[in-house]
Amino acid sequence: MAGQIYLDHAATTPVASEVLEAMLPYFSEIYGNSSSMHSFGRAAENALEAAREKAATVLNCAPDEIVFTSCGSESNNLALRGVAWEALRRECPPHVITTSVEHHAVLHTAEQLRDVFRCELTIVSVDQYGLVDPDAIRRTIRPNTVLVSVMAANNEVGTIQPIAEIAQITREAGVLLHTDAVQAAHQMEMNVEAFGVDLLTLSAHKFYGPKGVGMLYVRRGVDLTPSQSGGGHESGRRAGTSNAAGVVGMSRALALAMERRAEDVAHYQAMRDRLIEGVLSEISDVELSGHPMARLPNNASFVFKDVEGSALLIHLDAAGIAASSGSACKTGKPEPSDVLTAMGYDERWTTGGLRLTVGRQTTTEQVDYTLTVLPEVVERLRSSKV
Ligand SMILES: *Cc1c(COP(=O)(O)O)cnc(C)c1O
Repeated sequence: MAGQIYLDHAATTPVASEVLEAMLPYFSEIYGNSSSMHSFGRAAENALEAAREKAATVLNCAPDEIVFTSCGSESNNLALRGVAWEALRRECPPHVITTSVEHHAVLHTAEQLRDVFRCELTIVSVDQYGLVDPDAIRRTIRPNTVLVSVMAANNEVGTIQPIAEIAQITREAGVLLHTDAVQAAHQMEMNVEAFGVDLLTLSAHKFYGPKGVGMLYVRRGVDLTPSQSGGGHESGRRAGTSNAAGVVGMSRALALAMERRAEDVAHYQAMRDRLIEGVLSEISDVELSGHPMARLPNNASFVFKDVEGSALLIHLDAAGIAASSGSACKTGKPEPSDVLTAMGYDERWTTGGLRLTVGRQTTTEQVDYTLTVLPEVVERLRSSKV
């Protein structure tokens, strides 16, 4: 079984066969530039607009509220910069609110808005489960607040945020709400009206679509200053020749995710809960990280006391298990995870993060094999410590 077990679906997923099939004609048969006037261009344009309509049906929005981008990171960049730069034309300085557990594509963009574009920024903290308190958002809103950005679900610990509640607050205050729903896409209902958001980010490769394509839902009436300028693609909101194959694949993957959601979620939950129960009962000095209930169906994440996450990953990989840790390992030096730090863990815990994220192909046998390997590895790492 070594070398076979992929438990890192939060990092990326394989392209579903139906998705690949839908994409193939758009590489060398229907290869026109969708901006061209001729029949080749129109064929690509038709595919693009059909994909937009299909995605809009899933998201419960109008097709012209969808902007296709190159990835989830770009969608987050466009949401934050687009709104803040638009506000910079009118008032100075605009205020942006986000949280301490956002993906870096949000957090670093928000910090850049503060440091380079002189926006005001508030980073709201979270509780020990990584949960944002809607009241904390309410208290932080100022007269010059233009945007709140809170992720739908966390990529590291899987905590699901109360987006609909936060949306009531932002709506009352007349402030725009963006959510990074990249992790949530195939595991929760992706209905922009149920969320009540004004902007929503998705990335295809996190829901069995291809890498290098994403989208941003932009509610009608929300003006964005494009952060990538050039031609008038995507109604002037994002310049660059459209990736027809990618967009067709993403739309197919999104529709497929919605069709399969009940089945997928039941499977993820069964695999996840088996992992969680096994780890917590077999290993000492370990905690489930993230919220015990409000968490993504596919996310089993843990913190191990006095264990180095990067060493854990190397040993698991050697045993054929692909997993992930919250802490980024730079030149061999373990860095504490920002998310775990934000959740209040001290440094005996913050480098010992382990994220196991299951997928459509995960089996009970794979989970059970992982549960035999992991306790041994943790034991070995702990006993080798002086
Ligand atoms: C993966 C991820 C992103 C980035 O998406 P890319 O398409 O890889 O750029 C953004 N936000 C979250 C929560 C993610 O998990």
